[in-house]
Order: sequence, then C-alpha cells, then structure tokens
Amino acid sequence: SHSNTWTKVDEYIGEKLIEHDPVLEQVLEANRQADLPAIDVSPSQGKLLSLLAQMAGATRILEIGTLGGYSTIWMARTLPADGKIVTLELDPHHAQVARAHFALAGLGEKVELRLGNALEQLAQLDREGTEPFDLIFIDADKPNNPAYLRWALHFSHPGTVIIGDNVIREGEIINKHSTDPKIHGVRAFYDLLAEDPRINATAIQTVGSKGYDGFVLGLITG
Ligand code: SAM
Repeated sequence: SHSNTWTKVDEYIGEKLIEHDPVLEQVLEANRQADLPAIDVSPSQGKLLSLLAQMAGATRILEIGTLGGYSTIWMARTLPADGKIVTLELDPHHAQVARAHFALAGLGEKVELRLGNALEQLAQLDREGTEPFDLIFIDADKPNNPAYLRWALHFSHPGTVIIGDNVIREGEIINKHSTDPKIHGVRAFYDLLAEDPRINATAIQTVGSKGYDGFVLGLITG
C-alpha cells in the first residue's frame, strides 16, 4: 500500500539524515509506556521544526500542545543558553511525562511548561506582559485553531514564524459540509490566514509514517 511505502521512505530519510538520538528514542518509548497517544510529530518533522527554529534565529519559542515533549525537545535544543520555550498542555498526565523528559534531555532550564487550558494560559501570559515569540508552533485541539492563531498574531513581531500542524487531515479539509469540529476549526484557521494582512502563509501536504496530513507555514510581515 502507499502508506507502507511512505513509512519505508520515512525510515530511509531517518537513516540518511537524522542522527541516532538515544534521548528522543527514549522519549517515544516512555510515551508509549505511559499510554500517551502516538500523535507526536515524526522524526523528520521534528527535525524540520528544529531547522525552522535555527533559520528564524529563535530565542523565544511558544508551543501550544506539549504531549510528551517530543517536538518541544527538538526545538528547545536549538535555543541559545538564555533562550526559552514556553509550552502549553491541558492534560496533567501528559505534562508530568513531558516534565520528566525535559529533565532527561537536560533542558529543564529552557523549557517552561504551563499546565492548563491553552486559551487561559495565553491570556495569563498576556497579563504577565510576555515578550513576543520568534517561532510559534500550534499543535493542540484543532477546534481552537482560529483562537490560537489570533493569540499567535498578538505575540508576534515582524519575522515571527508560525507553524500549524494537521491542516490537511487526509484531504478532509476540502469538505465544506464536514460536521467534524476539527475540520471546522482548521477551515476557519485557513480563513483567518487568508484574511489577515499581517501574515503571509502557505500549506504543505505531507505523507509519511504519520499518514497523509500537512502543515501551515506562515511568516509575520507586519
Ligand atoms: N506537539 C506534540 C509533539 O509533536 O510531540 C504533540 C501535541 S498533541 C498533537 C496535542 C496535545 O494538545 C495533547 O497533549 C493534548 O492534551 C493537548 N491539548 C488538547 N487540548 C488542549 C487545550 N485546550 N489546551 C492545552 N493543551 C491541549
């Protein structure tokens, strides 16, 4: 089947281009042991996030949706000594697993995990007068994607890179009659991207070990 080829090609890419990484492999194994859903980004996507963070020269990163911290670790490792990644997670079990992983990866100082509903945490960050972020990764509950994008715009400066995951959903995204709240959320996310003159974006369809999906890549221009 196609998906079998996609997985084998991801394995090939992994062998060629993604360095063997005992910490990240242990994180995925510990996620499995802790019964976390295997909905983290793939290794090649994790490396893409790390490359984008480096290209953006990011010193402050915001992630919405931590799970076990797999994508967080990929991005956090690119940060300078005084850099910071704020990552938001609703589920206390996920947060507990992720915190152990940040310690394992030696990243405890650079990662600030905030437990709670991301919408509330974003409002709290605003009340604290948080500095803008250089890269923002939106990867939580899809019905809230439009609200997350509004906050991302609020916490940005010209040059901020915004990435939104799972925006193709096996092509279901073009079904305007879908009753799935995830599809509604992601379609409204596209509408906002199309309307807002402050962001310039595209979306890329992907296949691989995580199936057929894709991501939005945007740049804040104003
Ligand atoms: N970024 C992670 C990675 O690649 O390793 C995967 C994140 S997973 C796709 C989505 C996460 O968002 C889950 O851990 C889920 O508990 C969390 N989540 C769902 N709704 C949320 C909300 N309202 N606020 C904060 N986190 C939420």
